[in-house]
Amino acid sequence: MSPRPDHFWESKTLEELSDQEWELLCDGCGLCCLQKLEDEDTGELFYTRIACRMLDGGTARCRDYNNRLESVPDCINMRPLTDEKRRWLPASCAYRRIAEGRGLAKWHPLISGKADSVAAAGRSVAGKTVAESEVPLYQWPDYVIDLDELVASLHRAKRA
Ligand code: SF4
Repeated sequence: MSPRPDHFWESKTLEELSDQEWELLCDGCGLCCLQKLEDEDTGELFYTRIACRMLDGGTARCRDYNNRLESVPDCINMRPLTDEKRRWLPASCAYRRIAEGRGLAKWHPLISGKADSVAAAGRSVAGKTVAESEVPLYQWPDYVIDLDELVASLHRAKRA
């Protein structure tokens, strides 16, 4: 692939993107596919290292993206990206970055022109997750992680 010279994400709102453009914006990091816990009292979200059962832990890609909403009923269709849905995405997510006027990161494939630039930048959860089937629900709190620390650790692992 090569960088997108038209920078379509800068001239359109998220609502104006075609379906193909919308899908191109996803960098495939897999962070949104980590299971989360929500504090019922405060609404605070906590990320875990546990991957959604549909996530391929080796590639950080959904095993059946087109049918994911049928397979996992609580998977959220992010389109349209409302404020309520946006809070479920990590700050590094391309959709959040665009919605918040922060532009795409330099490691985004649309900028780098390289399909593997997300992994090369240490931004992919590939190989870093625990399978949902291996962790009973009552143990999920033991797998809560600080998302900023996880991203930092992904960086460190990549540089080592
Ligand atoms: S966090 Fe955002 S960019 Fe990363 S896989 Fe999920 S939707 Fe795509």
